[in-house]
Amino acid sequence: IFAAIMERQYIKKTKELLQTTDNVVITCHKNPDGDAIGSSLAIYGYLKKLNIKAHVIVPNNYPDFLKWLPNNDRILIFDEAQEECMELINNADVIFSLDYNALHRTGDMQSVLENSKASFIMIDHHQQPEEFAKVMYSDTSICSTCQMVYHFIDYLEDTSLIDTDIAQCIYTGIMTDTGSFRFRSTTSTTHRVIANLVDLGIDNAKIHQNVYDNNSYNRLQLLGKSLNNLKTIPELNTAYISLSTEELKRFNAQKGDTEGIVNYALSLQGVKIAAIFKEDAEQGIIKMSFRSKGDFSVNELARTHFNGGGHINAAGGISNDTLKATIDKFISILPNYKKELA
Ligand code: 5GP
Ligand code: MN
Repeated sequence: IFAAIMERQYIKKTKELLQTTDNVVITCHKNPDGDAIGSSLAIYGYLKKLNIKAHVIVPNNYPDFLKWLPNNDRILIFDEAQEECMELINNADVIFSLDYNALHRTGDMQSVLENSKASFIMIDHHQQPEEFAKVMYSDTSICSTCQMVYHFIDYLEDTSLIDTDIAQCIYTGIMTDTGSFRFRSTTSTTHRVIANLVDLGIDNAKIHQNVYDNNSYNRLQLLGKSLNNLKTIPELNTAYISLSTEELKRFNAQKGDTEGIVNYALSLQGVKIAAIFKEDAEQGIIKMSFRSKGDFSVNELARTHFNGGGHINAAGGISNDTLKATIDKFISILPNYKKELA
């Protein structure tokens, strides 16, 4: 009944790998979001049901609003426990790559993963996946890796093993990656998967509350500052927000505090593309998020000009220039897209 397709050879290979492994490591991309953490903990919960020993290793810390998820206490943070994590990765015979399409997306974990002899199982929905996995379940048409994890378990004929812990994790990733079921990637299949999860008896309203009604006072003040900084380029239907290190410090910005702010720029009447530029003085970079409506590909924009990538309507990138120089560059390349934007 599902449009998503995982090739038969890969289903067979996955079964073989899971039957013979005794050491699995589950990984996701740097700066993990709801889909990355949700899919990691969902696979962890599933493997636990199969009595397979697994460790979840994420590259760096992630927002507090995800730390209520079942089995969150099992997560190891590579940045904070490098030696232990390196040993686990070196001893793994199967490594899950969840919600990323290329090893460099795991930051400092990249070289350890590259040197691993393990078989990789990729489950991912980002564009232009690299070929490093024995099992490559990649589908850019699906809204979230978490929805793919549901299909993955379905392909292995194990949906009966999905309990409320696994269901909450999958629900969370689908919810966060679809902007609460509103982005174009949300299909009838997405809703069917969600319906099946709700039927298991999870408290779906509580999940929304846990993730979205968890703002600190500072976070809302930072949002106010961001909206204050909103600038528009009306003739190109573009809106963007910038946040300097000083501003981020003033509101004591924590991981995840800037998540979703770019969507306010996109919500402006008529706007086709939106961006947020965040200065990270510590790393000496500018981190960018891009969003678009309709057919304009911010994946292409981020890939071509800002060393990044993602999806058609949501992408990110980085720059080594100053905040001002990065914004100036963004403004200067926009006329190249005049046909699509004006
Ligand atoms: P966000 O703007 O929410 O951080 O990310 C939006 C999408 O773009 C996500 O799917 C994310 O994986 C991808 N993305 C964000 N930053 C980068 C980046 O620096 N490089 C690449 N390749 N993808 C990114
Ligand atoms: Mn995702």
